[in-house]
Amino acid sequence: MALVKCPECGRERVSDTAEACPDCGYNVRAHYERVKEENEKRLEEEEKTDTEKETASKEEKASEEESVLNAEKESEEEKTLEKETASKEESISERQNERMENGYFGQLINLWMLVRKVQLQ
Ligand SMILES: [Zn+2]
Repeated sequence: MALVKCPECGRERVSDTAEACPDCGYNVRAHYERVKEENEKRLEEEEKTDTEKETASKEEKASEEESVLNAEKESEEEKTLEKETASKEESISERQNERMENGYFGQLINLWMLVRKVQLQ
């Protein structure tokens, strides 16, 4: 119990548990119970907002982690692409070598055919 000012008439030293102000008969107890309830409600709401904020920051963190994961994935994909490109280049140069050999052999065959023609004449 505490002595408060009557919220209705302003009389000092009214007990906050008094059901009626000695001056105006205002229900001081009911008034302060309501105030207490409102304060509790406000506190609850503030806690709720804090929880919401925490949840939001957690979600933010999660999405950050996701983007980090995605970035890692992307860099892996890039590496695979690089590898594929490298193997493609390799096969191209192999094909070029084959073509060159064919050309060389083709020339040899042509030369051999020429020699044979000369021999046949
Ligand atoms: Zn009063």
